[in-house]
Amino acid sequence: MMQCVICKHGELDAGTTTVTLERDDVTLVFKDVPARVCENCGESYVDEAVTRQLLKEAESAVNAGVEVDIRHFRAA
Ligand SMILES: [Zn+2]
Repeated sequence: MMQCVICKHGELDAGTTTVTLERDDVTLVFKDVPARVCENCGESYVDEAVTRQLLKEAESAVNAGVEVDIRHFRAA
């Protein structure tokens, strides 16, 4: 079981979190992002593959001229 690096006490459970990405004038909020969440302090850890997908989505949103958006995470 992985331990939380922030509080060093809690164990990480599978859960979801909200990730906010800001780039230039663009703000994107992704809800229901799969993550490991510390049972003690609530810190969340998002996998690299998930982060990559968020960044990819953010890039296409920027290209599409989106400025502010709240969306639910969709698994690839
Ligand atoms: Zn913790």
